[in-house]
Amino acid sequence: MSSDSVVIIGAGIAGAATAYFLSRQGVKNVVLLDREKQPGVHSTGRNAAILRTAIPHPELHHLGWKSKQFYESPPPGFTETPLVDPVGLFLAATDDQIVGTSRDLQAWLEDPTCSKGGENADPSQLYDLYPELAKRVDYVHHFANEGVFDVDAILSGFLRGARQAGVEVRLCNEARRLLVENGKIVGVATDEEVIPAQKAVLAGGGWAADLADAAGYPLPLQPIRRHILVTARIPELDPKGPVVWLGGDEFYFRPESGGLLMSACDTQPVSAAEGELAQHQTIEEIAIKAERWLPGFDQLGAAHYWAGMRTFAPDPLFVVGPDPRLSGLHWVAGLGGHGITCGAAVGSLAADWICGKKSSYPYARDLLPGRFFDQSDNRSSTGIEIGK
Ligand SMILES: Cc1cc2nc3c(=O)[nH]c(=O)nc-3n(C[C@H](O)[C@H](O)[C@H](O)COP(=O)(O)OP(=O)(O)OC[C@H]3O[C@@H](n4cnc5c(N)ncnc54)[C@H](O)[C@@H]3O)c2cc1C
Repeated sequence: MSSDSVVIIGAGIAGAATAYFLSRQGVKNVVLLDREKQPGVHSTGRNAAILRTAIPHPELHHLGWKSKQFYESPPPGFTETPLVDPVGLFLAATDDQIVGTSRDLQAWLEDPTCSKGGENADPSQLYDLYPELAKRVDYVHHFANEGVFDVDAILSGFLRGARQAGVEVRLCNEARRLLVENGKIVGVATDEEVIPAQKAVLAGGGWAADLADAAGYPLPLQPIRRHILVTARIPELDPKGPVVWLGGDEFYFRPESGGLLMSACDTQPVSAAEGELAQHQTIEEIAIKAERWLPGFDQLGAAHYWAGMRTFAPDPLFVVGPDPRLSGLHWVAGLGGHGITCGAAVGSLAADWICGKKSSYPYARDLLPGRFFDQSDNRSSTGIEIGK
């Protein structure tokens, strides 16, 4: 067990899960900071809440699969309500949209290192569940045990478990600066105080790279904006209908609050300051795809819509583990579009690194931040100068 003091910056799923698993490892001096008065108001509270472990990167699929096991059978006392509603998930594609798309989709969905627990299905199965769906689907893969998260219950479970084990959660507390002496983290400065710490963990979502950048340790993380729209009530809709993801055209939908939650999978790189500013033009794109795929649902009025950030490293794997440039600096960032699906295993992996333990996770080294730097000549592989 490590006796180091740890400050985690960011109380979204990344920071909360890390705090939880650190506390499970018996680490005592942990402070979890968030600048907001409520945790989870940024990406963790603005996503589609879809459990989809099929991911075309084995490194991430493994994390999703491990996390799914945690969410399906959380430890006693973690939650009083189920964390996942297994309404089912269909990944589908047409042959005509982009030549090769459905074949590519088929290739990774049938690769056991990227996808487990699904099976090929007949498109008619999908049409039976959603009679309004355009009858243009050629390839369907069905995951009966995947579906929709209760994100609030997951985040609350991590935070409650961490607090009960002694983690101090400080809201309305913005980390302003990393304090560095002799090439080591010695603390984190907020507006009010200096918190001494041997380890600082960057889990700030779209803002995760800011403090490290200011201290001279940049990392190439890019927030990408994505919009979600929830329609007005659709009386004939089954609220327990499955999630449907149409590859090629990149459109997904699922029941939510009596209507349909949908996204056109937009991918606009933005600054973190603009990441949650919804754009009317993109909402129109969602409406166009909805008309194309769900022509039976006339006049799908929007009840509400929003935008949020998915933050990516260039590869685009997550960034989890110690930074080789600065002793005591750790990252839990770049969780892209899979942060809830993979959150439990990411938190566990990050805690292992912080405690200096060897993780049993087979791809742990592939996610280390050092992959972006040519450590021999002190330059990053993306051309970014390393501060020191
Ligand atoms: C539209 C959309 C749909 C998505 N759909 C899914 C999905 O269906 N399934 C899935 O698994 N994932 C999905 N995701 C991805 C998922 O939401 C993210 O990967 C995940 O929430 C990232 O969590 P995080 O903790 O890294 O970031 P955040 O939740 O943004 O948390 C970061 C926290 O850090 C705090 N912070 C930042 N800087 C500081 C500072 N200096 N001091 C103090 N606090 C600070 C912020 O206030 C914030 O609370 C989706 C994302 C979006 C945007």
